[in-house]
Amino acid sequence: MKNQIGVIGAGTMGNGIAHTFAQSNYSVVLVDINSNYLEKGLQTISKNMDRQVKKELITQKTKEIFLGNISTSTQLNSLKSCSLVIEAATENLKIKSNIFSKLDELCINDAILATNTSSISITKIGGITNRPGKVIGMHFMNPVPMMKLIEVIRGLLTSDETTQKIIEISKDLNKIPIECNDYPGFIANRILMPMINEAVYCKMEGVAGTEAIDQIMKLGMAHPMGPLALADLIGLDVCLAILEVLHKELGDSKYRPCPLLRKMVDSGMVGRKSGQGFYSYKR
Ligand code: NAD
Repeated sequence: MKNQIGVIGAGTMGNGIAHTFAQSNYSVVLVDINSNYLEKGLQTISKNMDRQVKKELITQKTKEIFLGNISTSTQLNSLKSCSLVIEAATENLKIKSNIFSKLDELCINDAILATNTSSISITKIGGITNRPGKVIGMHFMNPVPMMKLIEVIRGLLTSDETTQKIIEISKDLNKIPIECNDYPGFIANRILMPMINEAVYCKMEGVAGTEAIDQIMKLGMAHPMGPLALADLIGLDVCLAILEVLHKELGDSKYRPCPLLRKMVDSGMVGRKSGQGFYSYKR
């Protein structure tokens, strides 16, 4: 068994991150604010592992071992002896600030505190702690167990040693780490979100329907998914939060979130996780 690592948030990304570490034989402590979210996260991990069993990538017995590598808690305190904690809570600076100031107090001095944020400044999050050299962005892609990339983002004070450790751990997870600097949206979302936002404008302005917009981008650009289906997968609330950061921090009107995106979030239609977004996922 490798070192103990902590994952905060059992939502779309947190459960995928826990799954990925567990199948690389790390002992994982998964934390969320209540046990219902934890239960739901574990169910998703189990279902996704069933798919791996069906494809004969792992056996039923290995699945049980991997699941056994994950424990859950509603208390940040359970993370105090972890060597690495990855925060994957809601994309909101206030929530993340609160988590990082508590983590800084309770975690061992050597622990690296990573965030899976899509857009919030790593330097700002590092500045909340007394260990900015050990704070780094470790940006996994969705769905985590399938996607190879980890965008590794250095804050202004992130040390070389921390960056090197995160690169080694990423490779150990069988992922491909690529470094970039701290700037709103980094690389992935700085480029992806304006495209998704533009697709929502096309839908709002009636240029084409949902399926047609997605088909045009799939067939015409060889994208594996259309932008509206991808927005549903990411979560429309997450897309909106990222666009707000890009708009505010870069100060350019080209990042203004489409009013239709805002309306859909306000109505609770946030994509796959709610059962309804641009497409319906009701079972
Ligand atoms: P989500 O809404 O699916 O899950 C967030 C989880 O965080 C929820 O279960 C919530 O209960 C939990 N949470 C909120 N406050 C908490 C707290 N104080 N302590 C513990 N848990 C708390 O969100 P998500 O899509 O998994 O996004 C999580 C992070 O990952 C965000 O920063 C997001 O920007 C980033 N991200 C998302 C995607 C994506 O495709 N959805 C991709 C890459 C990165």
